[in-house]
Amino acid sequence: MVQTMNDATIYIDEIRSSIRGTLLTPYDAGYDSARIVWNAMIDRRPALIVQCAGAADVIAALQFGREHALPISVRGGGHSVAGSCIIDDGLMIDLSQMKSIRVNPDTRTAHVEPGVVWGELDQEAQAFGLATVGGTVAHTGVAGLTLGGGFGWLTNKHGMTIDNLLAADVVTADGRLLHTSRDENPDLFWALRGAGANFGIVTSFEFRMHPVGPEILGGMVLFPMDQLRDVFRFYREFLFDSPVELTAYAAILTGPDGVQLVAVAVCYSGDLDAGMRAVEPLQSFGKPVADLIRPMSYLDQQAILTQASPYGRQNYWKAELSRTLSDEAIDVIAEYAPEAPSPYTVIVVAGNSGVARCVSSIATAYVHRSEAFNVMLLAAWDDPADAERNISWTRSLHEDLRPHMTGGVYVNDLDDPQEEGEQRIRAAFGENYDRLTMLKAKYDPENVFRSNQNIRPAP
Ligand SMILES: Cc1cc2nc3c(=O)[nH]c(=O)nc-3n(C[C@H](O)[C@H](O)[C@H](O)COP(=O)(O)OP(=O)(O)OC[C@H]3O[C@@H](n4cnc5c(N)ncnc54)[C@H](O)[C@@H]3O)c2cc1C
Repeated sequence: MVQTMNDATIYIDEIRSSIRGTLLTPYDAGYDSARIVWNAMIDRRPALIVQCAGAADVIAALQFGREHALPISVRGGGHSVAGSCIIDDGLMIDLSQMKSIRVNPDTRTAHVEPGVVWGELDQEAQAFGLATVGGTVAHTGVAGLTLGGGFGWLTNKHGMTIDNLLAADVVTADGRLLHTSRDENPDLFWALRGAGANFGIVTSFEFRMHPVGPEILGGMVLFPMDQLRDVFRFYREFLFDSPVELTAYAAILTGPDGVQLVAVAVCYSGDLDAGMRAVEPLQSFGKPVADLIRPMSYLDQQAILTQASPYGRQNYWKAELSRTLSDEAIDVIAEYAPEAPSPYTVIVVAGNSGVARCVSSIATAYVHRSEAFNVMLLAAWDDPADAERNISWTRSLHEDLRPHMTGGVYVNDLDDPQEEGEQRIRAAFGENYDRLTMLKAKYDPENVFRSNQNIRPAP
């Protein structure tokens, strides 16, 4: 058993000779850059990093880690705020070099490896006028996002990312490579769609693609903060009055001049004239300071939020789902927002009013189908010395908001599992939790995959 970094070096030759990819120890060039993740609060030092070149490397790394009793983490895009893809003194199975994308325009499908980020898939697919439901920030990993559920600008029209997942290849804890789909290993395929990080290492995703763009109607309307309450109330109705082609988020953000603003951002993927009619109520509401809605390429729409979420900042998140967005919840947000300690902090209300709600809450592991609003408190700042101020503001806002929400949380919004605690993880899986513990006992009885929002195997 490997207990220290020195012990680990004894076994290096063994693993190095069995993989096509790269093995990195703390003494290798490339080690430090390989351990950078999106959230700069996360600064962890694995004993070994295996940068896999394919499924065979994943199997070899997993077997090696298990034989030597190394704690294991799995890295896709490295974007989770919790940083659960990387651990101290363990083995990080790093999939970030596995970047193959194969789009088939005839069948409207795409095969995607787990190191791909959304900007890369969008670019490949848009060459054929296609896209699937993906994250709104280009450098977010396809893997982690999909395995937790997945929401984006196409959600109201095409459902969650998991609703567009046709199949996945997964290396299970015992080192087998299983093909999963509705017909093959359907129980595992069910679990992968919403709780996937707990069940194995996905080495390939197959997605259903849709004709999108190349031009969509996107952008946002910006309002002054004194209209916050009115804009949020308007937004909660507008969302449900609009056609499913329209996905819209409301947010409080700070402009480049340091002034806070309320934004309603939209993406209409469909006929542009119909889109113009759909966004007209928003454009004629209140007294906006800017109307930035215009036809643009889908890739430009996908870039809008990317610039606002760079690598290198400190980040701390809280989030809460709700069936309704009550006046009381809006009041709490309106009270706290002006006191946000950092200009990078954003409060987002992501609405889910379209086809994703038509799927049963037990059809996939993602359970919160009927929660229409995801309120995300995304605190971000530069100087580590400002952590306490930013974290305590976020925690207080969350505590005061919770009584006005109907409960539940999107697993991909959970922060550090130790802090979030068992109850929040259960809240992420709701009524599906018990079934997930039984499947965990079937596919990962020793809880090898536990560097995540962990589901413990049923006894
Ligand atoms: C700026 C920003 C914007 C975001 N925008 C959206 C959005 O628009 N929509 C949305 O739904 N979510 C969004 N998210 C949340 C996002 O879905 C999660 O952060 C997700 O975990 C990112 O996946 P990743 O592969 O990049 O992360 P990682 O940190 O690499 O992985 C996250 C978890 O998944 C596991 N994992 C990764 N790859 C695999 C694999 N191949 N097999 C098994 N387990 C694996 C990891 O072990 C880890 O536990 C956003 C996050 C950020 C930080």
